[in-house]
Amino acid sequence: MTGNNSKRTRILNVPVDMVNTGEAMEIFRGLMKTPDCSLIVTPNSEIIVNASKDLELKAIIEGADLIIPDGIGLVYASRIMGVPLSERVTGIDFLEHILGYLEETGQSVFFLGSKPGNDEKKGIAELAAEKIQETFKNLKVAGTHHGYFKEADDRNIVKIINDSGADFLCVALGSPKQEKFIACHRNELKVKCAVGVGGSLDVWAGTLKRAPEFYRSHGLEWLYRLIQEPGRYKRMAALPLFMIKVVLSRAGGK
Ligand code: UDP
Repeated sequence: MTGNNSKRTRILNVPVDMVNTGEAMEIFRGLMKTPDCSLIVTPNSEIIVNASKDLELKAIIEGADLIIPDGIGLVYASRIMGVPLSERVTGIDFLEHILGYLEETGQSVFFLGSKPGNDEKKGIAELAAEKIQETFKNLKVAGTHHGYFKEADDRNIVKIINDSGADFLCVALGSPKQEKFIACHRNELKVKCAVGVGGSLDVWAGTLKRAPEFYRSHGLEWLYRLIQEPGRYKRMAALPLFMIKVVLSRAGGK
């Protein structure tokens, strides 16, 4: 059971929890006390649009224990829907709160995903773990593994995570792969809670820069990411499309 009594709203018929950071952390702390592997998802506009078409992804979000609205698009959408979110919870900020909690309580984290290393350089997950431990000095990292494995290796990866004894799992395989990996192995995973973290390991490792304060405070992270990764322009077309769909669904009373 989730212990999540937050007000759940729907954007394009995909559920989202109306929570601020404090409320999200309270729910999270509760989830860490339940024995089963709880699932946290952090949908942004792109994931919501995908979930309105990908029924498997939508079902996974429906079954999640905590659904964090990530990104300015969802804040605008909630206003249009007439159920404004009180505060924007950014996925990566929320994750850093989680890491702080794990450090404080002596619990450990496993980082799965992002590019592997080679003879010359470390993998992104390993690098991210090292960088994170510069900030969260007493955080226990139970293990790391890159995210470029075949589906046939899933069981082996689950075993590595379980053998590490980790309490919490961060999965950076991109969406919807990360959500589907967690949902598919939820019953075998011994971690108390798992979350898909998208490009966060790249940000922590320093290979992807986080938007500077100006972009963040003006809700322009998407623009900064586009400048860094121009190849994403096609995926980013999801953003205006998302707003149009929200306006239409509001007009249609859905
Ligand atoms: N990634 C991975 N395995 C894959 C595909 C992607 O580990 O098979 C990693 C990728 O290296 C990156 C992360 O998933 O670190 C997020 O990818 P992307 O930027 O596409 O996802 P988003 O942040 O948009 O969800």
